[in-house]
Amino acid sequence: MIRANRSNVKELASNREASNREFLIATKKNRPPDFFKTTQSFHNKVFREIDCLDCANCCTSISPIITNRDIRRIAKHQGMGESEFSDLHIVIDSDGDLIFNATPCPFLLSDNKCLIYAARPEACATYPHTESHDISRIRETALKNSFVCPAVFEILEKLKSYYSKK
Ligand code: SF4
Ligand code: SF4
Repeated sequence: MIRANRSNVKELASNREASNREFLIATKKNRPPDFFKTTQSFHNKVFREIDCLDCANCCTSISPIITNRDIRRIAKHQGMGESEFSDLHIVIDSDGDLIFNATPCPFLLSDNKCLIYAARPEACATYPHTESHDISRIRETALKNSFVCPAVFEILEKLKSYYSKK
């Protein structure tokens, strides 16, 4: 059963932060051979129950990191020059990364769809990275995402339960 949603995920993740961190550290140290496949399987299961169009918490509360390749693709999609697009929408954050200059995302529509879906940044296309990455190797990112994304919270809950029984 899915418990997390955009309203409660921050509090749930805060309550589980220590156990999630401990689990991911232990998993990195002593990685089960099936860990990535099991994570992908829980990712698929959880996303059958969570509809991103009912949530949009990522698009509303954090900005993806934007690459120059993203800028080229999105600018073309929008029929703009790269400099014009960057001047309008891109800033550099305190880590030196390129991000959108507004949160919620300037391309988020009122029905939670993405105006630039076909050309969206790579970081958006792979978010929340539970299908594309071994989350024990991106521990801090996964922990950070568990505060934003109900799916990440649920996937971690399922992983902890699954491996505690093995
Ligand atoms: S570009 Fe689209 S998918 Fe990415 S944050 Fe903005 S609205 Fe969301
Ligand atoms: S990826 Fe996660 S945070 Fe983003 S809309 Fe889907 S469930 Fe919500």
